[in-house]
Amino acid sequence: MADTIRDIVIVGGGLAAAKAAETVRTEGFDGTVTVLTEEPERPYERPPLSKGYLVGKQPVDEVYVHAPGFYPEHDITLHIGDPATRIDRGGGQVHTRSGRRLPFDRLLLATGAVPRRLPLGDGGLDGIVVLRTLEDSRMLAERLRTVEHVTIVGAGWIGCEVAAAARTFGVNVAMVDPLDVPLARVLGPQVGAVFRDLHRDHGVDLRLGVGVSGVRGAGTVEHVALDDDATLDTQLVVVGVGVVPRVGLAEQAGLEVDDGVLVDETLVTSDPRILAAGDIASAWHPSLRRRLRVEHWANALNQGETAGRNLLGRGEPYARLPYFFSDQYDLGMEYSGLADASDRVVVRGSVAEREFIAFWLRDDRVVAGMNVNVWDVVEDVQALIRAGVAVDSDALADRDVPLTGLVG
Ligand code: FAD
Repeated sequence: MADTIRDIVIVGGGLAAAKAAETVRTEGFDGTVTVLTEEPERPYERPPLSKGYLVGKQPVDEVYVHAPGFYPEHDITLHIGDPATRIDRGGGQVHTRSGRRLPFDRLLLATGAVPRRLPLGDGGLDGIVVLRTLEDSRMLAERLRTVEHVTIVGAGWIGCEVAAAARTFGVNVAMVDPLDVPLARVLGPQVGAVFRDLHRDHGVDLRLGVGVSGVRGAGTVEHVALDDDATLDTQLVVVGVGVVPRVGLAEQAGLEVDDGVLVDETLVTSDPRILAAGDIASAWHPSLRRRLRVEHWANALNQGETAGRNLLGRGEPYARLPYFFSDQYDLGMEYSGLADASDRVVVRGSVAEREFIAFWLRDDRVVAGMNVNVWDVVEDVQALIRAGVAVDSDALADRDVPLTGLVG
């Protein structure tokens, strides 16, 4: 392993890549820093693509991680639209689509994820879309301006946020999911029901507990057929059924991969010169004592920073708890920790008024918490999870008992 680090290459044009590039410079690194992106854009953040930017409330300038001048000012070379095609570990080089050969002493992979596709038997009809990129969001907004009916396949985070955005365009929205409540896998039946009621109250035609059997039309989408023999008229189908990590480069390079690029707690892969961060990284979590691949904004942001320091050999463990947020209609929420379907739920506040904190408990210990339209409590919720102490359920449910008093 080279002792002197002169050349750093970062592959990927998302938040993790941009924060890593920024961090190596703020940490004082004075060698070369090169970022390769596949998309024809400088790095940007994705949450606005299903929220403010999609509904036209947030200008595109606010979506980018940095102003355009940031990269030259910090002597970061950004090769936009020139993705890495191969990693030559033996030769210590990254090859790009345009034919560049970039030497590296340290390499960061932050290639993110792509939407999972569904076999819909549509024969390539127009009007079936996914949402991942800025271009996808632009195109979706254009279509939402012209269609009358949209069908959303999948009631996960993307599906729910697109449903909320589509209602603001005045479009009739149907959302289909084989599970009985939205977000069932993450939130379980009790808390998932909050989102079922939320979308129903906003006029979404929820088709839950049923799958899509096919999509029909002539040239463009006209109908979605469901497993229960129902047929939905639609001119647009948005498929939101999860994402797949982009591990092709890592596999080709012979790095260890298993639903993500395997990294240790310092984000280092099976090759000590190569790190991975963000949606792509399946990282060992030192306090949860298991591997996690987290597909959320805060993870890309914070792992990007940690990876930036660790590219310089700092060896800093990444030990943050998983955290994410979502906004749908007038509901804003933040979730911290990691719950299982079998964990017990305790609620503090009012579910009916959609102003509460839900806690998930395992052996009387809080393992996750979600605050809904209740703010400035994330630190307290996370402190409770980290403390790992048994808590009294009645006290946890009682708004008058400060959360800080339960940490022990
Ligand atoms: P990505 O953002 O996927 O970036 C990876 C980049 O690498 C891509 O631009 C890709 O083109 C590029 N790339 C791939 N292969 C190569 C290659 N060979 N060479 C060069 N470049 C390559 N999370 C939340 O917590 N809250 C939210 O509200 C939320 N909303 C979201 C809304 C939408 C519409 C989407 C799509 C995601 C949302 N997320 C949200 C998730 C969050 O945006 C992701 O977790 C985050 O973008 C991951 O960042 P990343 O840098 O790891 O990967």
